[in-house]
Amino acid sequence: MFQHTSGCADARSITDPCSRCDLLLGLEGVHVEHVQRGDDMIMITVSTPRQPTGCPACGVIATGRGRRPRVLHDVPGVTRVRVLWRQRVWRCVDAGCAKKTFVEQIPMLVAPRGSITRRAIAWAIGQLRREHATIQGLARQLGTSWKTVWRAVKPELERLADDPARFDGVSTLGVDEHIWHHVDPRRQGPKELTGMVDLSRDEHGRVRARLLDLVPGRSGKAYATWLQQRGDAFRRRVKVAALDPFAGYKNAIDDELEDAVAVLDAFHMVKLGTAAVNEVRRRVQQATLGHRGHKGDPLYGIQTILRAGKENLTAKQHARLHAAFTDREEHVEVEVAWQCAQQLRDAYRQADLTAGRVIAEQVVETFHTCPIPEIARLGRTLRRWRDAFLAYFTTERANNGGTEAINGIIELHRRLARGFRNRDNYRLRMLLAAGGLTP
Ligand SMILES: [Zn+2]
Repeated sequence: MFQHTSGCADARSITDPCSRCDLLLGLEGVHVEHVQRGDDMIMITVSTPRQPTGCPACGVIATGRGRRPRVLHDVPGVTRVRVLWRQRVWRCVDAGCAKKTFVEQIPMLVAPRGSITRRAIAWAIGQLRREHATIQGLARQLGTSWKTVWRAVKPELERLADDPARFDGVSTLGVDEHIWHHVDPRRQGPKELTGMVDLSRDEHGRVRARLLDLVPGRSGKAYATWLQQRGDAFRRRVKVAALDPFAGYKNAIDDELEDAVAVLDAFHMVKLGTAAVNEVRRRVQQATLGHRGHKGDPLYGIQTILRAGKENLTAKQHARLHAAFTDREEHVEVEVAWQCAQQLRDAYRQADLTAGRVIAEQVVETFHTCPIPEIARLGRTLRRWRDAFLAYFTTERANNGGTEAINGIIELHRRLARGFRNRDNYRLRMLLAAGGLTP
């Protein structure tokens, strides 16, 4: 423990604090008077040296009216930390002034009516952003309530969210939707949210996906309105727009992003191929056995193998596939469907984009004529989305994969917080967790 009074003996002037004051708080002109370590708490008593102070209303030099202790929650260490600020109270000497008395403010220490120090708020935001912290957990560590922590953190997040600089430099944009609640929409608004994700590459060619925004609804209109709000400069800068095959989003891209190429997401298309194979498998199973597959049925046992890439299969898995395909004549449909899905996958897997595009063009030209209805349907989807499907091969593999990663972060944080009831709070928390507030 050390102790010295305000007007710290080690400090030569207000702007030259002593090293101990500097070490503990690092705030110019704020002196540590006293540090007391209790069993479960450290109390740091601070104050500022007396100096002439003008009335904020009239400017007349005020007279001191003593001090009033104010306890602030500070960044916890091994134990909780409190800052006891002996806040100066002043009185205006001008009898006609409306101000009467006023208190000293140290904006760098704490907001005018705050109870959590500025640095503790910065610490809390860092914990939320990087350490998967929860508001409840931070409240516990600070020794205060959920409400107090959120009230301190929220304005800071709002300030960051309102900063237009966070939309700078977006050249590749992704879009996706997710369900954010499962209660009655009349109470909590639409269940779906449309999320916009920055998928631009950095100078090393890497994509560091950032969630840019969340808006209510799943519609082209939700996306288009958001794009309009971003302004001309933003819209002109976007050169690539990745999406899943949803016509609403495609229309928004066509209408609002004239210079951008729409790219259908590779992962999503491979998934559609896999889904088609699974549908064929189930249909053939039902038709040949008269019931859904059971354990021991030949097509039932290969369903996970059918989902994998051909190149990843072991010799044993190849043999099981072959056995299932040849078990009955009708199973040839499953084999053909599987070959088609593998061909689609193959287009994306080519190291050479030109070679990939050749395969992709074959897929577009042939699938829709396939006698297997599920594959023909996939083929019609691909023909309808031809340009966006092939754009993958001319945009250096632009894809919506970063958006999927963002959805994973959103999912994690929703579970950590055990649900959200307020959409604005949800948006701010997700923006923070998914990098949207850090330009
Ligand atoms: Zn005054």
